[in-house]
Amino acid sequence: MKRLAATALAGLLLAGCAAATFAQSSAPAPASGPLAESVPSDLPRIARPLHYAIEVAPDAASLAFTGTTRVDIELYERSDSLTLHANELEFASVRLTPAGGGSAVALQPEIDAAAQTVRLVAPAALAPGRYSIAFEYRGKINTQATGLFALDYPDKRSGETVRGLFTQFEAPDARRFAPMFDEPSYKATFDLSAVVPAGQMAVSNMPVASEEPLADGRKRVTFATTPVMSSYLLFFAVGDFERLSTKGPGGVDVGIVSPAGSGEQARLALESTPPLLEYYTDYFGVPYPLPKLDNVAAPGQSQFFGAMENWGAILTFERFLLIDPTITDPATQNYMYTALAHEVAHQWFGDIVTMAWWDDLWLNEGFASWMETKASAKFRPDWFPLVGRVNGRETAMGYDAFATTHPVIQPIRTVAETSEAFDAISYSKGEAVIAMLEAYAGEDTWREGIRRYIQRHRYGNTTSDDLWRAVEESGADGLVEIAHDFTLQPGVPLVRAESRCRQGTTALELAQSEFSRDRKDEVAANPQRWRVPMLIKVGSAAPVRHVLEGSASLELPGCGAVVVNGGQLGYFRTLYSPEMGQALVEALPQLEPIDQLGLLRDNFALAQAGYQDAGRALDMLVEVPGDANPVVALGAIARWGQVHGVASEAQQPAVATLAREAWLPRLQQLGFDPKPGESLVDTELRGDLIRILGNIGDDTVAAEARRRFEALATDPTALDGPLKTTWLGIVARNATAAEWDRLAQLAATAPTAVERQAYFALLGAPKDAALAERALAFALTGEAGTSSAAIIAAVSREHPELAFDFALANRTAVESLVDASGRTGYIAGLAAASREPEMIGKLERFAESVPADERRSVERSIAGIRERLETEPRLAREVAEWLAARAG
Ligand SMILES: [Zn+2]
Repeated sequence: MKRLAATALAGLLLAGCAAATFAQSSAPAPASGPLAESVPSDLPRIARPLHYAIEVAPDAASLAFTGTTRVDIELYERSDSLTLHANELEFASVRLTPAGGGSAVALQPEIDAAAQTVRLVAPAALAPGRYSIAFEYRGKINTQATGLFALDYPDKRSGETVRGLFTQFEAPDARRFAPMFDEPSYKATFDLSAVVPAGQMAVSNMPVASEEPLADGRKRVTFATTPVMSSYLLFFAVGDFERLSTKGPGGVDVGIVSPAGSGEQARLALESTPPLLEYYTDYFGVPYPLPKLDNVAAPGQSQFFGAMENWGAILTFERFLLIDPTITDPATQNYMYTALAHEVAHQWFGDIVTMAWWDDLWLNEGFASWMETKASAKFRPDWFPLVGRVNGRETAMGYDAFATTHPVIQPIRTVAETSEAFDAISYSKGEAVIAMLEAYAGEDTWREGIRRYIQRHRYGNTTSDDLWRAVEESGADGLVEIAHDFTLQPGVPLVRAESRCRQGTTALELAQSEFSRDRKDEVAANPQRWRVPMLIKVGSAAPVRHVLEGSASLELPGCGAVVVNGGQLGYFRTLYSPEMGQALVEALPQLEPIDQLGLLRDNFALAQAGYQDAGRALDMLVEVPGDANPVVALGAIARWGQVHGVASEAQQPAVATLAREAWLPRLQQLGFDPKPGESLVDTELRGDLIRILGNIGDDTVAAEARRRFEALATDPTALDGPLKTTWLGIVARNATAAEWDRLAQLAATAPTAVERQAYFALLGAPKDAALAERALAFALTGEAGTSSAAIIAAVSREHPELAFDFALANRTAVESLVDASGRTGYIAGLAAASREPEMIGKLERFAESVPADERRSVERSIAGIRERLETEPRLAREVAEWLAARAG
């Protein structure tokens, strides 16, 4: 309790300087005039918000809150009504007062639940001008991460269950907190205050400006006024928190707000933040504009996101922010850093400058994803983030090669379409395209363009073209056309390559077509056209830049293996002639790690889609050296797992033997236990080697997992460390009923929310169908809180039919376990790993039960299953032929 009081006092002192900073700086006013017709909107274009003053009084125990909100607006034309967004708010009174004074009139609220709006009808027509609307209302506190929501978790000091409140507003859920013009272009300033228990800490975007004790044991906390910003960035949290803080560049107060008792677990995130702020301040050419930046650890989880960039108050789910040495695994620690780098980048790209509408969501997400990798490469080079970027490109191409894909910039009209836009195309294709364009422009020109863009549009809203124009003006001639090719049309270019060596020169023939996984013949007959920037590497000669338009015949100095997508910066696939492919197989051990990984993934994808026999990819896989870069090794061992998965049962032992021969020595060299001071990627590689070699039946690994699990009976700390979830994962997958019961007991008694989440998810991992059914039944008891949906999702990996049928049979109950905005996608995802033809019909019937604008995720699952059913028998045959040829 002492710590809380001290922190509150510090907040109070800071608030004074915050107010002063804003009074002195030229904080811009909101835009004026009706919203442009070019920006989509649900609301009539007759008014705009200028300022909100919101006060909420949450009643955490009864999951409800009362609110009073004053919205200052400007009305641009005569009207007898005003429309704002509101969702699940009950209005007690709405009154309107002219800004210059005058008597208040009551407005009649007419709720349109489907449109998520409230129309306020005035007794007589209102003249254009400024008004204040005062609302008194009640709202709901949700139990999933939507609007204002509650998380129950064990207190780290007492073990008692306590409740914290948090908000999640992106994209359409600020309207569940207060009536608002809840669209990104309606920027305004916000004053927030809250009536909360006196002993708790309240957090918002800005520092606390004042705290006033109330007679009933509560207090009123008032936060300083925000700068002009979009409603989806507003944030509020309250609970038994503690705050670890430090000073960032320019005196910015940097804090990590954690569940009380977290102590030093927040240290790494805290210390990682100021260098990022400094790096971005330099990169964007504009300092971080708020007096403080908090990152709030929420002890729960969502099926959809790990963190959210609320301005000045990032929300991150606890397991992605706080290091718990007993359980945090290396992949999570890596995610932790990239999530931090991502959200801090959004403080500029997204928060200072915001997309005008959700059709440009990718501009936020693709850019922040690209920036997180760039920043990680600067501060964590030993994790090889740039090599790992290849995997993001593959995820994007995985979606983008199906007919169900969409352009990076896509028309968005409804709330449901907005939710679906948070996908691999916006994030990973966005990142890959930006990386390609940066390489095309050159690093310095690109940065110059970004600085120009941020300067020009500070506190405003933009479209993608505003960014392209700024970069082209900075010297990147031709960039706009390339950017349009890759963002306005969907799909993946395919570049066919043939070459000959003549007198020390390589004659290279290139032709652009289109890569597809489900419409190969169709796109081959009529491919889309792209201008494709590439960096061609021939042997050890200096790489050559080229922009392919259609086809080209190039004479390149030197001879040797040719990598058409050198450095893997281009967003395209390359189909090499058999001779070029063979030369690459032989040269693979000597290539740059990023090209090794890129070629491996590219050739596996080409085999999967049937562009070439799987033999080429398998030849490359066995050429990956045993001492490869750890990120390449991670990619190789994952491919072995994939090959084992498609091979027929008769062939699986031979695949397992090859995988073991290739990678068991690396595991032996790393050892089963982490070594002090080793790099994070080595720890991650050890975990993946254990997991995959264990899954494909390496007895030593499975026996070791069981031995360690048994040791837990006498020593509860026996498994503590970065590989805890790896070992437990192997046990859970092969669990007996007694072992499953033991895991359930560990989940119920785990001392922290993060450990509980990990154990709960493991309950869904067994191969045994009876145990999987027990896990599904358990998920509905609600005992696992926000982990319930994760249990069902875990079951779906091994038993998709079981999980999907269960979710449909218990649809209302299962949907209540998932954030409101992603329920259809969640259920469709449960079926995604299916290999049953009947599942296609089930999904089609499910699609009919959801609105048309929510069907994309269902169509994706169907397309994936169709393709799997079609390709796996062929791949199994090709693997068998390759094995036979090797043995012969
Ligand atoms: Zn983001």
